[in-house]
Amino acid sequence: MIRKPKKLIVANWKMNVTKEEEAEGLFLSIKNVVNKLEYTKVVCCPPHMYVNQVARHVDHRNYRVGGQDAYPEESGSRTGETSVLMMKNAGAEYIILGHSERRHLETKSDVARKVTAVLEHDMVPIICVGEEQRDRNWKKALTQQLKDVFNRVPKKNPENIIIAYEPIWAISGEKKNPATSTEYMEALDVIKKELKKIFKTSTAVDKIRFLYGGSLDDKNIEEFLKNAEVDGFLVGRVSHDPRILMTMFRLVEDHMQREMFPIKEEE
Ligand code: PEP
Repeated sequence: MIRKPKKLIVANWKMNVTKEEEAEGLFLSIKNVVNKLEYTKVVCCPPHMYVNQVARHVDHRNYRVGGQDAYPEESGSRTGETSVLMMKNAGAEYIILGHSERRHLETKSDVARKVTAVLEHDMVPIICVGEEQRDRNWKKALTQQLKDVFNRVPKKNPENIIIAYEPIWAISGEKKNPATSTEYMEALDVIKKELKKIFKTSTAVDKIRFLYGGSLDDKNIEEFLKNAEVDGFLVGRVSHDPRILMTMFRLVEDHMQREMFPIKEEE
């Protein structure tokens, strides 16, 4: 039996959904399509307070729910925090960690503690890394971020680890400035080399999944699909636009179909 590789699309809704009905409606608006995708798996990451409501509708392996952050301790006197355990109990299976929009709120060891807690709860951390600028120090900045996390976490179950390369300069702000597939591949090379040093084996690193994120949409996803070694994508701004998402799914499906069956037989 051929094991079909699936690309992962992680939709980080950020704080762009403000009502429970809206969160539910958004999740459901693409559910029927997502459940039928052959080569694509989708993880929606709503704001914490809608995770439970949205996760109630999960009934297919293609379409899962994640959180945008979580606190490493299970419970206790931590005013305002939501623990990894609470997220798990609410139905989240993935947690985005170390996002550049949160890094100013947490230390390097906070991110590592969160990654450890997520792994200990058999959930999947989506660890964001990326340099601020493509200046002469960018490779050093990127490898330092990896050391800060992976020198502090247990080196088991690499198949449960996802790393999202999200160069900060590419994340959409006022204007869109996505990385090119070449820039992504340069970064992937730096990331894999560093991880091989940290994990002391390439077998473990081969099991880790790598995503690209930063101003990605239906106009540029094909460039990555065609030219980059990428296991999926993390999308922000377009993640709450069902029309754009569905176009992206279609592009992934068409690409994967061509990859799997390069010569289409006549009926
Ligand atoms: C992000 O913030 O993780 C992100 C990828 O955002 P955007 O797609 O809007 O650049």
